[in-house]
This record gives sequence, C-alpha cells and structure tokens, in this order.
Amino acid sequence: LIGVLGGGQLGRMLALAGVPLGHDFTFVDPAPDACAAVLGRHLKADFDDPEALLELARTCEVVTFEFERVPTRAATRVGLSTLIRPGPRALEAGQDRLGEKELFESLGMEVTDYAAASAPTDLVDAIARTGLPAVVKTRTEGYDGKGQSVLRSQSDVARAEEGLAGWPLIVEAQVDFDRELSIIAARSVDGDVVCYPLIENHHHDGILRLSLAPAPNVQASVQSTAESHARSLLEHLDYVGVVAIELFQVGDRLLANEFAPRVHNSGHWTIEGAATSQFENHVRAITSVTLGPATPTAYSAMVNLIGVAPSPADALRIEGAHLHLYGKTPREGRKVGHLTLIDDSSEHLRTCLERVVGLPGTKLPEV
Ligand code: AMP
Repeated sequence: LIGVLGGGQLGRMLALAGVPLGHDFTFVDPAPDACAAVLGRHLKADFDDPEALLELARTCEVVTFEFERVPTRAATRVGLSTLIRPGPRALEAGQDRLGEKELFESLGMEVTDYAAASAPTDLVDAIARTGLPAVVKTRTEGYDGKGQSVLRSQSDVARAEEGLAGWPLIVEAQVDFDRELSIIAARSVDGDVVCYPLIENHHHDGILRLSLAPAPNVQASVQSTAESHARSLLEHLDYVGVVAIELFQVGDRLLANEFAPRVHNSGHWTIEGAATSQFENHVRAITSVTLGPATPTAYSAMVNLIGVAPSPADALRIEGAHLHLYGKTPREGRKVGHLTLIDDSSEHLRTCLERVVGLPGTKLPEV
C-alpha cells in the first residue's frame, strides 16, 4: 500500500501508473472532491492531521507526496514509523526559495543574482544588489506565479512594499532568458539515476501551457550540464523518487530557478512519449524497484487544459492526440486536464499542434 500526501491530478496519475504494478493507494487531502480519490482510499483530512498521519503510517509500506507545500513536520512525523520517500529533508529544501538558491549555488549551479528581504521595507536595499527589472517573490507558499511580481521602476517597488507586507521575500534579477527548460530525473534506493531529456516549457500568466520534449535544438553539453545538476541535487539530498528542476537557458548557460521534489507537470508527456513514465519511475523508486529507462520514444507536445476542456470527440480528432481529463470541476485558472500529441517527426508534430489552437482550455504561445 502506497500513501500519498495530496490527492490531485499528480496523485491520480501516480495511481494510474502504480495500480498495474499491484499497488493500492491511500490519499490524504482535505478537499472532498480530490480527483485522485476514485483510484484509492481517501482520508479527508488536513496534511498535518495527526489521526490521518497515524493511519498512513500504520497501513502504508511507503508514503510519498504529490504536493510540496505539505508541512515538513507532517512528513517527519510519518517518517518516524514508516518509509517516507523522498524524505522530509528534500521537502524542506524546496519550500524556501532563498535556501533553494543557496543550495543550488553550493552545488555549483548558476543562479540569477538574488537578495533576501526580510520585510518589504528592505526591498530598496535588495534591489540595489540585483538591479531592475527584478522579480520579487514570497520565500514560501508561492506557486504557478502566485505571490510574485515584476519590478521595473521605483514606483513598482513602492507598490510591492504595500502588497507584500508581512511576507519574507526574495528579490531576483529578472533573467532575459532565451527559453525555459526543465529536467526531470529519478533516483532509486540503490542510488541509480536516470534523466529524461531536457523539456522546453512555455508559460502564460505564470501557468505552464505547453511543453515540448525533447526540447528542440539542445546542445549535448547543455543536456549534460542539466544532468549533472540533477545528479548533484539528488545525491546531496539522498533522494529517492522523481525530481524536477526548472531552468532558464541564456546562450549555452543554464540558470537554476527552482526544483520540485515530486513528479512535475512538464513531465506529463512521458506517459506516452518515453520508455518509462515519470509516474512509473517514481512508483518504482519509492517501492525499491529498479528504474526503467527514461529514453524518449517519439517527439511530444503536452498542452495543459486550463479552466475548461474540449470534448474527447474534438480533442481526439487530432492525429497523435492523447487526452487526460482529471475529473475536476472546471474553474477559471484551474488545470483540468492535458493533451499530449505524439509523433515520430518533429515537423509533423508542429502541424498537428496547430490543430490544437482554438480548442477550449488551450492557450498556446507561438512555437
Ligand atoms: P516560479 O514560481 O519561480 O517558477 O516562476 C514562475 C515563472 O515566472 C517562471 O516560469 C518564469 O517564467 C517567471 N520567472 C520567475 N523568476 C524569474 C526571473 N528571475 N527572471 C525571469 N523570469 C522569471
């Protein structure tokens, strides 16, 4: 039995990969309509609810999380009486953007210039170190572009001081990147690591819209830098499971932005486009099974469906399309599903992708 803290779409896809391997799942999620619940048992409780955690620890051989804002103390408590993978240390390392940047630097990864601001009134000093334009972010709690804003002028700074009062902040020099990439990797209990190819990501309003995998035109040296970053991070954290690192590419440099100690939205294409999906490799890792190869088997384009989804009839008319609906009530800005297009020619994949434009829920950048 596998316990999962969080019962959203990532938990749902973990179960879709783990059930065929003979595993049962229990999800802890306070939402009565948690969309993973159809695939297992649902403990409707907060992530730090002592009774729910006790029940997980009592009944599960291993516990994992699909949501990184799980309180570290909850993960630590579960880890006292059963396995928790990855461990609370990895969870904690990803929860504070300042500590995360310091960790990246200590592991030899490049990052953008940054400075801490313990209160909004420190913003002026922080900006003296990073320059403008800058991105100010809350150190904790932010996701999908929430809790952050771009500062272009001194008047933006004054506005941010008001809006972010009460939060410890980090200010980052805004990176004039060529593109955004991510690398997904998995580490087994024995310390074996597999890395998927770099993925090119396109965001809109802070939310991922489109991932292309393998990312087009990646120099071998860039892929190997990303892989060595992933290996260093996994080894440093003595990590078991799947991790994702978000990167900015500037020329042939990679700047690390953040990492997620879990399966990641930019890796959904691996379900159809890789020899082993990120979900299966996470399940394999946490259950002490050998990892499967992370080799891509085709070109993939993954389109998130935000707020509303097309009908299966419309979506599946597109050649090479695979539809994943999460069973969530449609709401503005909510990820309700994704569509992965697969093709063995990257040119033809682009032609297919053009047919996605205009389907409900898709908002595609020019690619
Ligand atoms: P994050 O929450 O850090 O993943 O940021 C969400 C998105 O905001 C990123 O995917 C980038 O598109 C953008 N962003 C965040 N930080 C920076 C930065 N320092 N420079 C440029 N863009 C950024």
